[in-house]
Amino acid sequence: MSEKVIKSEEEWARILTPEHFKITRRKGTEPAFSGKYHDLKSEGVYECVCCDNELFSSKSKFDSGTGWPSFWEPLSEKSTRTEPDNSFFMRRIEVLCKRCDAHLGHVFNDGPPPTNLRYCINSLALKFAPAKTK
Ligand code: FE
Repeated sequence: MSEKVIKSEEEWARILTPEHFKITRRKGTEPAFSGKYHDLKSEGVYECVCCDNELFSSKSKFDSGTGWPSFWEPLSEKSTRTEPDNSFFMRRIEVLCKRCDAHLGHVFNDGPPPTNLRYCINSLALKFAPAKTK
């Protein structure tokens, strides 16, 4: 799961739905409270909708009240990478899938302990895999 996934725009457009493409490959943002995961409290792993990379655990999810799924840390060091994003006259840190460079959302410094980070992620960038019941 560590090797890079590189596809052309055309390939992504063919694989993804238009909604998923717009968010992950065009750096879109879904409207707050519109996604299917902001309120989800089930146990499991949130994977990249583009490449299945494991991005976030439900264990680090918290209710930020923002209307987007929010996490205080990525699942592993292989999950995400960040880049400065100065678009729209703001200074933000973009969060991307480390494996396929999908745009996931942004990370802010107003999260809960232990990291005090808030990974603010689009539901449309994620695919939830419920934990297997024992
Ligand atoms: Fe990915």
